Amino acid sequence: MTFSPVSHHQDGALYINPQALANALPYFEYINGTLYFDGVSTHTLKEIYGTPLYAYSQRALLANYQSYTDAFDAIDHQICYAVKANSNLAILKTLAKAGAGFDIVSKGELARVLQVTDAKKVVYSGVGKTADDIEYALKADIHCFNVEAISELDTINEVAGRQNQIARISLRINPDVDAKTHPYISTGMKDNKFGISHEQAVAAYMYAHNLPNLKIVGIDCHIGSQLLDTDGFSDALDKLIELIDTLTDKGIKLQHIDLGGGLGVRYIDENPVSVNQVATVLLPRLKQLGLKLYLEPGRSLVANAGVLLTTVDVLKPTEFKNFAIVDASMSELIRPALYESQMAIIPAKLSRDTAKTWDVVGTVCESSDFLGKDRILSLQVGDTLVITGAGAYGFSMACNYNTRPRPCEVMVNHGTHRLIRKREALDDLWKDELI
Ligand SMILES: *Cc1c(COP(=O)(O)O)cnc(C)c1O
Repeated sequence: MTFSPVSHHQDGALYINPQALANALPYFEYINGTLYFDGVSTHTLKEIYGTPLYAYSQRALLANYQSYTDAFDAIDHQICYAVKANSNLAILKTLAKAGAGFDIVSKGELARVLQVTDAKKVVYSGVGKTADDIEYALKADIHCFNVEAISELDTINEVAGRQNQIARISLRINPDVDAKTHPYISTGMKDNKFGISHEQAVAAYMYAHNLPNLKIVGIDCHIGSQLLDTDGFSDALDKLIELIDTLTDKGIKLQHIDLGGGLGVRYIDENPVSVNQVATVLLPRLKQLGLKLYLEPGRSLVANAGVLLTTVDVLKPTEFKNFAIVDASMSELIRPALYESQMAIIPAKLSRDTAKTWDVVGTVCESSDFLGKDRILSLQVGDTLVITGAGAYGFSMACNYNTRPRPCEVMVNHGTHRLIRKREALDDLWKDELI
């Protein structure tokens, strides 16, 4: 199926058919011309909470999680949600209740997880863990450290010894496979900073094996993000299996294999493989391996469970370009500026007025402050626009640049809505500052 809601015009401008896009994404629907998200009118959301506003569908989130547990049902597995994609406590709580564990990359993320559940199912990735981070994680009794450097083994061993604990560890292997994604989100090639090279892996395991306060439990990798096909996962699995065989020969026995996250999503007209397709490709080898499977999905659980609502404040046609200036910006949603990612922008209310080509931009003083370029839209001041796919790496990357309060966040669920984070107030912005 190669259905696409998109057409490109001669001048390179992008037209996204809003109804077709809504039909392609679960829990979006135009009713009498107004966009509903998981049964809640976007008009209602704006009236009650104002804009800019992030909204997440609890149903979509749980459905995405369920697609993983269903796909890998045939083997023992644990899905560990990558907290950095969206770390709101209500999102974490929803997933914890459904049975998810968590993949964390900082002490702060662990502290968040501890607000909603315990650390039993936490795996801790990250290239630069300090002794202080490790002490905190050991006290919380996380499931496992995903170790990214040999010196980290020494630090964990030392801290664990001091605390009279045995630290469970896995080594994050850099399998040197091409994830075929944007270079900023590719993490599994040999020139990336992440993981321990395939060549050094066996020596690193032997080293870990001899450290008294460590217990080797697994092997892991994470090759990148927004992967659209199964090749990267499949190649990485092959590389890891090769290593596991060598380790077995050397008397090192593992309990789990963790293939990381990275599965891509449809933002506009991408056609990523489904979790089921990934499972179909990997399961025969995983069954034969007999180890518990860990996965660390972030984006694929939350991206399309979230939207950013924004209001058009100023329309500024110029000789060269038409600018639609909205109340969201790169401070609230940095993906277009940081990765040149294209996100769908559709109207909250369908319009029959003539359309023009607009750059949808924020008010931040940077020319990279755009949310979408050359978009064919019919716009009036006061209109609400909906940016889909904004549930992942949206709010979690938001900042206060240009002294902008961060937006509020709302959970919608089957026609209901509730605030899950207040809009920042102006005086929140300097509350930690000293004159
Ligand atoms: C970011 C990250 C993930 C999640 O990646 P997604 O593309 O959001 O699925 C998983 N594991 C590690 C180690 C990460 O750094």
